[in-house]
Amino acid sequence: MKNRKILLSEQEIPEKWYNIVHDMPNKPLPPLHPGTKEPIGPEALAPLFPMELIKQEVTTEKWVDIPEEVRDVYKLWRPTPMFRAYGLEAALDTPAKIYYKYEGVSPSGSHKPNTAVAQAYYSKQEGVRRITTETGAGQWGSALSFACQHFGIECEVYMVKISYEQKPYRKVMMNTWGATVHASPSNLTEAGRKILAEDPDSPGSLGIAISEAVERAASDEKTKYALGSVLNHVLMHQTVIGLEAVKQMEKAGDMPDIVVAPFGGGSNFAGISFPFLRLNLEEGRNIRCIAAEPSSCPKLTRGVFRYDFGDAVGMTPLLPMYTLGHTFVPAPIHAGGLRYHGAGVVVSQLLRDKLIEARAHDQVECFEAGVLFARAEGIIPAPETNHAIATAIQEANKCKEEGVSRTILIHLCGHGNFDLAAYENYLSGKLVKHEITSEQIAAALAKIDTPVID
Ligand SMILES: *Cc1c(COP(=O)(O)O)cnc(C)c1O
Repeated sequence: MKNRKILLSEQEIPEKWYNIVHDMPNKPLPPLHPGTKEPIGPEALAPLFPMELIKQEVTTEKWVDIPEEVRDVYKLWRPTPMFRAYGLEAALDTPAKIYYKYEGVSPSGSHKPNTAVAQAYYSKQEGVRRITTETGAGQWGSALSFACQHFGIECEVYMVKISYEQKPYRKVMMNTWGATVHASPSNLTEAGRKILAEDPDSPGSLGIAISEAVERAASDEKTKYALGSVLNHVLMHQTVIGLEAVKQMEKAGDMPDIVVAPFGGGSNFAGISFPFLRLNLEEGRNIRCIAAEPSSCPKLTRGVFRYDFGDAVGMTPLLPMYTLGHTFVPAPIHAGGLRYHGAGVVVSQLLRDKLIEARAHDQVECFEAGVLFARAEGIIPAPETNHAIATAIQEANKCKEEGVSRTILIHLCGHGNFDLAAYENYLSGKLVKHEITSEQIAAALAKIDTPVID
């Protein structure tokens, strides 16, 4: 009988996170102060983040110990399974060998608890009483609610109002884990009140929700702020995924030629791919790592590499990143987790140095891929995850055309059981293609006047 599942034991949960910055040929450029545009040091972040996370944000140490308490919580769902996708291979009639690493088995259904648990743990160690955050589609808010509940910390989530109204179940999930959820813009903050005064019916945005969560954290010493993507320490926490995946591929007696993952701010892509990139950097291997993004928010494939703000308002430090401009508002596609204007600093530098690749897909193509996957493998993927499946299908079809076999590893970073409204839309033929013109991209970039690089 063929093995479908490749499993590890609890003892094989990694003991250290991998920090790729140590091995990067070109280190990331420093963040700049939003006002003076001078480089800033880690101390500028102290009002918002616990000290240990700030240290991790700037460290160049290759390995960082995972605290025993964090590994203990990881045991609730880690190590996560890897599967050989025999069903998908048959459906595509491809000579390619396809595997997927599945993070949907976590309590909140995606990779996000890997960092949420670590962030809540360090906050607890440093006497933090409350953590604020923003959430769009609700994946990050639910992961952090779960983690805060575990360590006995209050969690306050600012959820973009339109999602709050359209996706009630994610909110109920957060409430079930004891979190307080506010529709953003709210009247609890200056930022929210200002927006509401101008537009009482504002549907909200991730940028506004970030402003509200940051303001709350900055105004109370015992309250900190947490981010679910983009930052170096978040990407590093996610490397538990790839470290397990390397061991699982070895166990299967195989190694991927291609690793694919969806891309929002870069955390799940980093998580699966950095431990494989390490093999490229250390041993001169040639594993291709491809980030899959939506064609309606194509910062990696059509954006520019320059300094830009992390939020829509322009309050955060300026970061060197691939961006479409911080005021860019993507079309309301269903992959809510990928509707972000910029990419994390480390992944941006790796792309610039051509150590990773990127590809964009339209949402109709992505749902075709997701439904094919669900019918072949059973799991209904998150709409974000469908982007990676679309890339993998292209690569598998190329193998068929060329008559060669390659090994493809897909990051199945979340399930879509709370996203069935999106699937209903697709299945009833209502989903539309979102093309973005070069003029629209140029117009978005013309609106920003942040420092250019080179
Ligand atoms: C949040 C999320 C993403 C996008 O964020 P990254 O930081 O790029 O990983 C992708 N997929 C799922 C399932 C998510 O929850």
